[in-house]
Amino acid sequence: MTKQCNKCIDGWIKEEGGICWCECKARKVIVEQIGEKFKDCDIANTKLLAHQDKAKVILSKPEGSYFLVGDFGRGKTHLLASQYGYLLKKYRRPAVRFWREVDLVEDWQNWEEGRYYVVSELKDKDYKHIFLDDLGRAKITERVQQEMYGLIDWIYTSQIGLSISSNFSYEKLIDKYGGATVRRIKDICEGIKI
Ligand SMILES: [Zn+2]
Repeated sequence: MTKQCNKCIDGWIKEEGGICWCECKARKVIVEQIGEKFKDCDIANTKLLAHQDKAKVILSKPEGSYFLVGDFGRGKTHLLASQYGYLLKKYRRPAVRFWREVDLVEDWQNWEEGRYYVVSELKDKDYKHIFLDDLGRAKITERVQQEMYGLIDWIYTSQIGLSISSNFSYEKLIDKYGGATVRRIKDICEGIKI
């Protein structure tokens, strides 16, 4: 059984500036959205491995937008989770969102069965940064291409932060998502090969 936090009520605490998330809440959100093994991820405790040297910009500019590309097992999700953990603790409210691409795509494919339409739902929220893990992994249909363009275009025009991990280069992602979506990702993100 998880130990109950005695500082907060359901993850919220009252401070001088108003109510905000308790530190336990950030950990809970990471576990729900990424998984138990990422629960303590934070920029502050991230040590880069030798092959991740190019990612050191994330540690010095953790508010930035990044496109992390590299083979399976290079630690891309771990780096995204560290940036995510940092931003969750910085904003201390639901201002950051993390999706595995496959989960997002599943929502879009089930739209006819009454699931929510992600982009229009997001537009009502005050998000500061969106994370997409493992871009290019899902089965991409025409519908998925359209939704992804809508999501990336909204991030682009709203000037929200975006961090992505992918096993696929920009060139390969163009085959999956089309040039317009990938051009916007390139405009928003700093590319890092690890
Ligand atoms: Zn707490």
